[in-house]
Amino acid sequence: MQIPQHTCFLGQRVLLVAPRPNQRQPSHARVAVQAVAAPPKLDTSTSERIFEEAKTLLPGGVNSPVRAFNSVGGQPIVFDHVKGAYVWDVDNNKFIDYVGTWGPAIAGHANDEVNKALSAQLEKGTSFGAPCELENDLAKLVIDRVPSVEMVRFVNSGTEACLSVLRLMRAYTGREKVLKFSGCYHGHGDSFLVSAGSGVATLGLPDSPGVLKSSSEATLTATYNDLDDVRKKFAEHKGEIAGVILEPVVGNSGYIEPQPGFLEGLREITREEDTLLCFDEVMTGFRLAKGGAQDHFGVTPDLTTMGKIIGGGLPVGAYGGRADIMKTVAPAGPMYQAGTLSGNPLAMTAGIVTLQILERQGTYEYLDKITGRLVNGIIDAAHKAGHACCGGHIGGMFGFFFTEGPVTCFEDAKKADPKKFARWHRGMLERGIYLAPSMYEAGFMSLAHTTDDIDETIAAAADVLRDL
Ligand SMILES: *Cc1c(COP(=O)(O)O)cnc(C)c1O
Repeated sequence: MQIPQHTCFLGQRVLLVAPRPNQRQPSHARVAVQAVAAPPKLDTSTSERIFEEAKTLLPGGVNSPVRAFNSVGGQPIVFDHVKGAYVWDVDNNKFIDYVGTWGPAIAGHANDEVNKALSAQLEKGTSFGAPCELENDLAKLVIDRVPSVEMVRFVNSGTEACLSVLRLMRAYTGREKVLKFSGCYHGHGDSFLVSAGSGVATLGLPDSPGVLKSSSEATLTATYNDLDDVRKKFAEHKGEIAGVILEPVVGNSGYIEPQPGFLEGLREITREEDTLLCFDEVMTGFRLAKGGAQDHFGVTPDLTTMGKIIGGGLPVGAYGGRADIMKTVAPAGPMYQAGTLSGNPLAMTAGIVTLQILERQGTYEYLDKITGRLVNGIIDAAHKAGHACCGGHIGGMFGFFFTEGPVTCFEDAKKADPKKFARWHRGMLERGIYLAPSMYEAGFMSLAHTTDDIDETIAAAADVLRDL
């Protein structure tokens, strides 16, 4: 079903606004609706009221751009509460959720065990600004699981982890340039807003204004899955590259897997060039496997950034790696990096309990099984309905594109049909399925999702895809 949309202007950006459910639809849309099984009416009037006010208070009505639904049209759903695999909005609509607060909710939203530990910690205090043993406990869990990490520093977000690791790579090597890949997202630090994925790709923004020319000049960009391109960049900037940073499985220009040999090739080239290799596992860490993508693929980088799951729903990021490199960080070494709330006991507690839950027998097998069932179910339904569609999953991370494929880099991802994605997204929302509001974002499964949830989602998908 084509969602009728009208445009209005807010500053210079065009917002696509879906009509209210009770609004009269144009006659061509009515005809289309009659031809298909009409989805249940979705009343979002309270969401709309709150979001209208938010737009007068917060830039674009949000505190992080992709939440605004700009690329799929319509207004965002305003959440009221979450539990397990589900979210409820302020109009009391219930959705099966595949965003999981963009990854952290892998143990299920508002997990009872995490909540219980948090309540107990609240009584003891939320921030000390002094050492506490919980920092050791989480550090030990991370070092035990993630192959590259011998020492770790906790920060408050993935962005902060990536900014800090870049400074570390420069400090350790004495070189200034960094090589990233087009479509990969490493947070909103100046140096990384060059060919960035996530919201930057979703909004189709050029590289951001406000970034110093000198920062973007020090950032080199190569094509994902293209080792020849990487070798070319190293030849052009011989002895100048401090490090290579990448998402070992891309989730920020849609879901893109590394081709066989790509990660191994990067490991080999960075060794030859005496350059550091950093896996940005903010998304993949503790999600693809116990030790992240490096554990799954058996390729060990020098440094790793983490976030999302490591905070179990509270703001935490981390960077870690070889001890000799990490000892460059103050106060062990000269590279300065600090944080008032870093390592606070509340966030450490949520991270510890979440990693302990993930440690249990069969968790990753279960995530892999139900995620595979979902993504294969959706792709089959798409093919049956005559749509080009390709995708995949590892552990609890998945994605698919409305294009023939294969998708091996950002350029390929851009061939997918954004209008079809917008209609798909709206159709699923109307059937009670909450998906990331952008075709450039991966999907996330949690341990709380049941086979029934998956089958309900596939049935909704089949319904939507038939009429897309
Ligand atoms: C989300 C993400 C970041 C940024 O983390 P924030 O906590 O949003 O600052 C960095 N890198 C990757 C790969 C991410 O997915």
